[in-house]
Amino acid sequence: MKETTGFICDESYFWHQMGNGALNQRAGGWIQPDTHAENPETKRRVKNLLEHSKYIENLHQIGPRSATRDEIGMNHSMAYADRIKELSDAGGGDAGVHAIVGPDSYEIALKSAGGVLTSVETVMEEKAQNAYALVRPPGHHAEPEEGMGFCLFNNVAIAAKYARQKYGLKRILILDWDVHHGNGTERAFENDTDVLFMSVHQENIFPKGRGDITYTGKGNGEGYNVNIELPAGTGDEGYLYAFDELIEPIIDQYAPELIFISAGQDASRFDPIGRMLVTADGYYQMASRVKKLAEKHSNGRLVAAHEGGYSTAYVPFCTLRVIEALRGKHSPVEDPFDLGFHEGPIYPHQKEAVQRAVDVQKVFWNLK
Ligand SMILES: [Zn+2]
Repeated sequence: MKETTGFICDESYFWHQMGNGALNQRAGGWIQPDTHAENPETKRRVKNLLEHSKYIENLHQIGPRSATRDEIGMNHSMAYADRIKELSDAGGGDAGVHAIVGPDSYEIALKSAGGVLTSVETVMEEKAQNAYALVRPPGHHAEPEEGMGFCLFNNVAIAAKYARQKYGLKRILILDWDVHHGNGTERAFENDTDVLFMSVHQENIFPKGRGDITYTGKGNGEGYNVNIELPAGTGDEGYLYAFDELIEPIIDQYAPELIFISAGQDASRFDPIGRMLVTADGYYQMASRVKKLAEKHSNGRLVAAHEGGYSTAYVPFCTLRVIEALRGKHSPVEDPFDLGFHEGPIYPHQKEAVQRAVDVQKVFWNLK
């Protein structure tokens, strides 16, 4: 196996258009629109930083293929896929709550899902130990029949179903650290034991009514869905405490054969639509821990797929740190926003929130 990290990106990802707007709102309300929060700049600057720092030379760059209609059909109805195509061909429209389709968005979304499929093939066929897919549009909110939260097709859900089918995997883990709940991915696997979904997110943020800690899956899948809700203002130590108490022990017991990260860097402390305080170093530490778990259980196989993250200045640094952790090599790039003091202390109410999730999951897993 090559001790390297695959990097999957495509120029078209930056050409998907959400139009003008204000934060998460599209143009047309009471406020003069400028740029919608989900615009190409944040993600393009991740690529720019990799290139400007030359860190990209440490990565194995791979162009993505497009997902086929049948692959999209593993997680979405054909009627929904057709609707996205029709809207896209017509120059744009709405695919659901906060799910804007622009011209050519259908083809770009196929390539976004395809980027995560390419990543799976890369790690399963041992062309790289792990991979980072800088894809756009993101996927984790997309439900089978409905787009949501800037997501059209559920890239990670499609890729996990593909990995299960093509490589016969029996235990796949998806860790979603985007600040919002990964409702679409939860829906995709709520009945399943062979895909364990874990979402660590800000409580009561988006979508409304989803991500409650008491929802643990259903039918055979009960016990294979882990929701961890953290209060607004949680920083690095709070997240790492959730890793200590829940995420790592459960992953150790599940022993996955392949790990996905739904990598939303919108839990960062500068995010305009999230209220968490994770630093670039916090992201480095979380990614390092997942990498170690992958090395222990899944022969290092780990695919990180980009989800949200809306600070154009900070997401590039957070994402660089995630990629450094996957690659196992530091860059010379310093975090210019590191103020030199510890910014992520943990408070009692944050520990209590983690412990409430521990109490729910104790029924299914051996936890302290
Ligand atoms: Zn998000």
